[in-house]
Amino acid sequence: MKPQANLMSLDDALAAVLAQAVRLDAPEMVDTFEADGRVLWADAVSPLQVPPLDNSAMDGYAVRCADVAQAGVVLPVSQRIPAGHVGEPLQPGTAARIFTGAAVPQGADAIVMQEDADVQPDGSVRINAVPAPSQWVRKAGEDIANGSTVLHAGMRLTPAALGLAASIGMAQLRVARRPRVALFSTGDELVMPGAVAPQDMPPGSIYNSNRFFLRALLQRLGCEVNDCGIVPDNRDATMRVMREAARGNDLIVSTAGVSVGEEDHVKPAVEALGELGLWKISMKPGKPFAFGTIFSQDADGSGQRKRTHFMGLPGNPVSSFVTFLMLVRPFVLRLQGMENVTPRSVRMKAAFDITKADARREFLRVRYAEQGSVELFKNQSSGVLTSAAWGDGVVDNPAMTTIQRGDWVRFISFAELLQ
Ligand code: AMP
Ligand code: MG
Repeated sequence: MKPQANLMSLDDALAAVLAQAVRLDAPEMVDTFEADGRVLWADAVSPLQVPPLDNSAMDGYAVRCADVAQAGVVLPVSQRIPAGHVGEPLQPGTAARIFTGAAVPQGADAIVMQEDADVQPDGSVRINAVPAPSQWVRKAGEDIANGSTVLHAGMRLTPAALGLAASIGMAQLRVARRPRVALFSTGDELVMPGAVAPQDMPPGSIYNSNRFFLRALLQRLGCEVNDCGIVPDNRDATMRVMREAARGNDLIVSTAGVSVGEEDHVKPAVEALGELGLWKISMKPGKPFAFGTIFSQDADGSGQRKRTHFMGLPGNPVSSFVTFLMLVRPFVLRLQGMENVTPRSVRMKAAFDITKADARREFLRVRYAEQGSVELFKNQSSGVLTSAAWGDGVVDNPAMTTIQRGDWVRFISFAELLQ
């Protein structure tokens, strides 16, 4: 089998898609508490150092090393410094009782943990181990220097990042606004779960599964989803929804109907309302993918045509899922200003064989197995959504490549793809 020359490579498709992804304007301020998963608009620069003062990493005694030249020295305890308090300068020849997080008193240069000290009947303390200079002292600014950039514009905020923002006093953060994404599914065969009970499903009908995972994926990636439901397989209905969806949304995502069969109405509908590229991408699962623009009159009366991006995914559930991850995900992240949208892959060992080379780059659904290896879901058909729910991620297998058990493969985890 030879690589198929008439197909577009995924890298080229991604480059073309990203070339159209301009960061959305109108960022918004959100409470840091609510900012998980949002994309930071501007660098966060620290107005202070963290920790603010040298402080103790242990419950114990602050001492001057010069006073404890050997083990067994007994020092009077001159003061007590709990967390949140700053003591007096430490008098030579004395120790200060100190607790974790409390500021190290001026003059002290080490902390002796309480496990290495014995309180004497008269209240003085015996130091049983010679302290090394700076021992158990957390240095002022060791986490964050004053004026340093703590969080970078274009990063997706994680729980740890929120904590870091809080540690420099930021109660609110400026983040990209959520892309507004209209989502609809096409297909006369589709029925919503809940609308018809399984035993009453008419022959030939199936439940609409794409709608569920696409909506969840978009939401996880920070989008506001405007669900436009199921659209029957006819051109007028497709155009009506498309026109409606273009209003007020940044992006329209649809599934199915993107081939060029008589029952595929997405292409003519988009062409009537805007511009469309319909690509056959050399990826498996995947292949048909539509990318274009819908024009509508701008509501603000400026007379300018408003452009809404359009992405049409294949109908087969796994094709739809994988195409979303490889093309829609980077696009919606870039709309939010995220720079690096390429998922990181890691090397894993294959616990399976692929004996037949495929002409297309393939994303094999796999899951973690023993000792740094991944195992393959047995049915890699693009209609078998079980593979995606079962898997922990995909192996990105180049075109024309066989795999032998024990070979290194490039693995991209679903966790990585949802960051
Ligand atoms: P199409 O792209 O319209 O030719 O659809 C390809 C396959 O995907 C067909 O078997 C459809 O029934 C199936 N399909 C399309 N849309 C959905 C959906 N929303 N949920 C589940 N399966 C779908
Ligand atoms: Mg169809």
